[in-house]
Amino acid sequence: MILKTGIVKGDIFLKHIPGNGCPDTPKRLTSLYSMLNDSDMQGNFVDVRPQKAEKEEILLFHSPEYFAKIAETKGKKLIALTADTHACEDTFDAALYAAGGLLKSISRVAAKDLDNAFALIRPPGHHAEKSRAMGYCLFNHIALGAMFAQKILKLGRILIIDWDIHHGNGTQHAFERDPSVLFFSIHQAGLFPGTGTFTETGLGKGEGYTINLPIPKGYGDAEYTAIFERLLAPVAEQFAPELILVSAGFDTHKDDPMGSMLMTASGFAGMAASIKKIADKVCGGKMVYSLEGGYNCDALSEAVKAVLKEMAGITCCDVSAMAAKANKKKVDYVVRRCIDVHRHVWNFF
Ligand SMILES: [Zn+2]
Repeated sequence: MILKTGIVKGDIFLKHIPGNGCPDTPKRLTSLYSMLNDSDMQGNFVDVRPQKAEKEEILLFHSPEYFAKIAETKGKKLIALTADTHACEDTFDAALYAAGGLLKSISRVAAKDLDNAFALIRPPGHHAEKSRAMGYCLFNHIALGAMFAQKILKLGRILIIDWDIHHGNGTQHAFERDPSVLFFSIHQAGLFPGTGTFTETGLGKGEGYTINLPIPKGYGDAEYTAIFERLLAPVAEQFAPELILVSAGFDTHKDDPMGSMLMTASGFAGMAASIKKIADKVCGGKMVYSLEGGYNCDALSEAVKAVLKEMAGITCCDVSAMAAKANKKKVDYVVRRCIDVHRHVWNFF
């Protein structure tokens, strides 16, 4: 059965031009948008027109002072917010539409008007802190999405999965004291921003609800899928979220310039299939993806296509067969380190 999968896209996201050699270029999205016109994609997805997030929605996570600072960049020439994050005249609007587009798709999935959705937006979001831009990110869309789902849509527990090659520091900090949002991040150890060690497990009442898997370089399709099956699946079942949000970065692709992982489009399909299996089991299939990194445009297009096909049920990856091919030593290292710090909270079977 083909599902109703929404896709957020819009020309406004092409107007964010951070310049200065920033790898987050508009071409990332033009490649993705043209891929959606491929004969095997056309007509299979539902367009979700982005809308501007309201100031009050951005303030669900960000501080009023920070919102004002970003708003002041509107209409101005390139402004450096940090050494690596710049705003041009249209960046503020692009960031508002990006957040708003994600919130709209979450509303529609929660209302069962869509089965699931993928927001193909930029700038990315997962590094943005409450009062600070960082790592090409201005507003933390996925954190805003979880807060919006809880405070406005009145959902309960939310699971956020972050498979970008970089640690989602902003998202972790947003929820590290909150046991109602489980943050599960798998990322390459030692890369920007340097956070996300195994022992960062949450604080206070949130202890155990932050799971970080900083993995060495050289992990590929089978290892990622096996780790999802061994660690993510049992925890997600016990946590029983009402909605799954995914910070989907594609910089773990073997051809991406950012890191040293070995993923191919098949592996992204494997992770998406694993998450879909979990979502079907625990929350009626409700999952919403938000684009984070991924800087080789051809690799990005191929991998996002593979994920979208899994989400819509056009393809159905055999997760167990893929996971069975994993290098046991590589998987065991991560599984052991994770269980060491989390066994008092979660049962890993
Ligand atoms: Zn990244």
